[in-house]
Amino acid sequence: MVTGASSGIGEATALALARAGARVAIAARRRERLERLGRRMAEVGGRSLVLEADVAKPEEAEAIVARTVGSWGRLDIIVNNAGLMLLSPIDRARVEDWRRMLDLNLLGLMVATRAALPHMRRQKDGHVVNISSTAGRVANPDASVYAATKFGVGAFSEALRREVYRDNIRVTTIEPGAVATELREHVPDADTRDRIDTWARSMRQLQSEDVAAAILYAVSQPPHVNVNEILLRPTDQER
Ligand code: NDP
Repeated sequence: MVTGASSGIGEATALALARAGARVAIAARRRERLERLGRRMAEVGGRSLVLEADVAKPEEAEAIVARTVGSWGRLDIIVNNAGLMLLSPIDRARVEDWRRMLDLNLLGLMVATRAALPHMRRQKDGHVVNISSTAGRVANPDASVYAATKFGVGAFSEALRREVYRDNIRVTTIEPGAVATELREHVPDADTRDRIDTWARSMRQLQSEDVAAAILYAVSQPPHVNVNEILLRPTDQER
């Protein structure tokens, strides 16, 4: 299952997994985008399950796991990718934007992971892939709460790994630098949006497919290899 599969990294990851032969449940809020992706997956011989859901709502984050297992009987890999980046200086930020990021980037990821665990423990096999960011390593001005969510993803993932490794469940954190996607379009503060756009355009950004390839690498290793982290930046990104 891939959350946030209606665009960007999630969409590219679902396609890459389909090409590799996986059945992929694809979750996000925009159903028509998921259905279009499902058709593209079918063209490469893949099978999909469209799950329209708001992952920031705990009951929906749980329901997508239940529906996947209900349809296919198991859940091998969950890619917790759905995320929002509502950057702003702290002084000008809206608490509501902070809450939206916390609810999706952190709580949604945690709830979906917890829902997946009983199935993975039963299978004695599973892989949780959590999408963090270079913002989970370096806290920049105007990115305080976004960075806090991504630092949180790193902490959660490490504790998770230590709780589940005995059941043969692997945990991978992916930390991309700048990727050319829709993510920055939602930045509410105009000055911050302009600044980050200029910064991103100053380099040759990663493409979603580059991140998908890193995820595919992590989930394709033999069972005794647990790729804990992949940090990948554009070559010309300094921090
Ligand atoms: P996009 O904006 O292209 O994709 C975000 C995805 O999340 C969309 O599919 C969106 O679908 C989904 N989403 C947003 N809100 C919700 C919600 N409430 N419930 C379910 N799905 C939701 O951005 P990216 O592909 O760049 O982002 C994917 C992940 O990668 C994020 O976690 C982001 O933080 C991380 N990342 C991105 C980087 C970048 O530079 N782009 C760098 C480092 C990390 P919909 O609107 O249909 O619900």
